[in-house]
Amino acid sequence: MTDTSTQEKVYHGIAASPGIAIGRVLLIKEHNTSFTESSDAPIKPEQVDAEVQRFNIALDKTREELLDLQRRIQKDLDTRDASIFDAHLLIVDDQMLLNEVEDMVKSQLKSADYAFYKVIGRYIAAISVMPDKYIKERAADIKDVASRVLSNLRNTNRPALDHLRQQQVVIARDLTPSDTALLDRDKVQAFAIESGSNTSHTAILARSMQIPAVVGISADVFTELHNNDEVIVDGFIGTIIANPTEKTREVYQLKAEEEGRFYIDLIRESRLRPETVDGFTVQLASNIESISDIQAAKKFGTSGVGLFRTEYMYMNSQHLPTEEEQFAAYKKLALEMNGEPVVVRTLDVGGDKLDRKVGAYAEQNPFLGLRAIRLCLHERRDIFRTQLRALLRAGKFGNLKIMFPMISCVEEVMEAHEFIHDVKEELLSEKIDFADNIDTGIMIETPAAALMADQLAQLVDFFSIGTNDLIQYTMAIDRSNERVAYLYHPSHPVILKQIKHVVEAAKRNRIWVSLCGQMASNPKYTPLLVGLGLHELSMSPISLGAVRRIIRKLRMHDAEVAVEEAIKCSTAEEALEISLNLLRKISPEVTNLALRGL
Ligand code: PEP
Ligand code: MG
Repeated sequence: MTDTSTQEKVYHGIAASPGIAIGRVLLIKEHNTSFTESSDAPIKPEQVDAEVQRFNIALDKTREELLDLQRRIQKDLDTRDASIFDAHLLIVDDQMLLNEVEDMVKSQLKSADYAFYKVIGRYIAAISVMPDKYIKERAADIKDVASRVLSNLRNTNRPALDHLRQQQVVIARDLTPSDTALLDRDKVQAFAIESGSNTSHTAILARSMQIPAVVGISADVFTELHNNDEVIVDGFIGTIIANPTEKTREVYQLKAEEEGRFYIDLIRESRLRPETVDGFTVQLASNIESISDIQAAKKFGTSGVGLFRTEYMYMNSQHLPTEEEQFAAYKKLALEMNGEPVVVRTLDVGGDKLDRKVGAYAEQNPFLGLRAIRLCLHERRDIFRTQLRALLRAGKFGNLKIMFPMISCVEEVMEAHEFIHDVKEELLSEKIDFADNIDTGIMIETPAAALMADQLAQLVDFFSIGTNDLIQYTMAIDRSNERVAYLYHPSHPVILKQIKHVVEAAKRNRIWVSLCGQMASNPKYTPLLVGLGLHELSMSPISLGAVRRIIRKLRMHDAEVAVEEAIKCSTAEEALEISLNLLRKISPEVTNLALRGL
């Protein structure tokens, strides 16, 4: 009989971050949340004492973890935030709850995990229906502690992905954006996860961190692969090859070398102007998630930062970043970019980026909820004020610009401007130096904003089109749900029409217009984006070289004709074919890579 576990096998998913990695697997089979029901199989009467003891050990361990977290956080945090853990500790010490669990183990002969899940589940259900919003939100706290207790009962704590001992390919059910941001770039050669799409924030981060990644991978990998199996991750086309044969390994080693040479060539071109054959310049800027991404951005030749996603500063920290911490970070960024424009986007949490510190809880429809500017203008004005103070102060040290995310009406922009005005008054009265004439702009990422572009353009200095969200909100598809990813097409004429409308409105009102969605990072769409007349494309630094090469081979007139035709198409596929036809004519080598998901 042949041993199928060592035969080569290909698993398919969605390409999320380009690159090839060959390595050994670290398999994480549990979901990130451990709040799941256990088997209700009865235990034997003689197991009861051991089961109660196991429960108490898990509670002790959870208590220790919570105290440790609290100690770490209290060092530099205001007591209100550290007190979250007081509430968590009360739950593990709630005698009534613990007695109920023990009773169920003893009288119904159920395992401690099953009994705990059932008892705590009843508490959660009861408070989730309370009319008081504050009490209702405590359900999330209870769930959080309950997940810890269940992980400790089941011994399923995940390995610390920020502290791997050796290089590995991580294959997991899911990685949240904050899990991903904490990955050790030197140790994680690549990752593949079951959830997500290529515009989820986990995928975007992988590109910035230059870690090859595949998302939406088939669940079979979790039953068929083992730790330490050899795998090849192809982040260009979205596959994992398990137990590759000698021949496959050789083919992929060659591909990886070819990829390396291609990037070296592109880096050599990094100082060339991103100018079309007929003399039109399209600025190429970078999207960054951390200040350390600037090195890559400079290496690939950036003309500034088109989008700094500041939310990771909050999500990666145990406490809310203080004004001084933020000021230091923005100042460093401004100085390092040496006068080049740096667009700093104010906090955009919510959707798939949850951070309970700032009050972004899981909502029923998180992408339609209290996200980004909505949270800042309503429930967390304190956080917004701190961020704006830090930004205005840091503006003295370079060419910083402030951008507001998720705008859906004129009133939000006016309110944000009033807020800036108040913060300036505050700084003036405190005699603190700040940049008085800092530019402000908005993300155009809701259809409402796209259609109101003319009115919005009169209020701001620049637009940046966020196609990741614009597509999600236009097509009514959750951008991180792999099951509806088949509807996610940047080349859809309905998206192209909105971009055209926004660019025309910006130009009529003489303001700068950039596009910073993932669409800008994919060379497949470069001919259309150039033809649409954007002043700037802002992208993952790794894509700057390929996009620059295409722009330098394009003729603006041909790109404009392609847009006219694409907009008249009925489907995204037809429109994409028009872009690819032009690309094939001017840059066959980039077309090949683009088709492989560069
Ligand atoms: C976008 O929506 O296109 C965008 C750039 O913002 P984010 O991906 O962070 O939502
Ligand atoms: Mg967005």
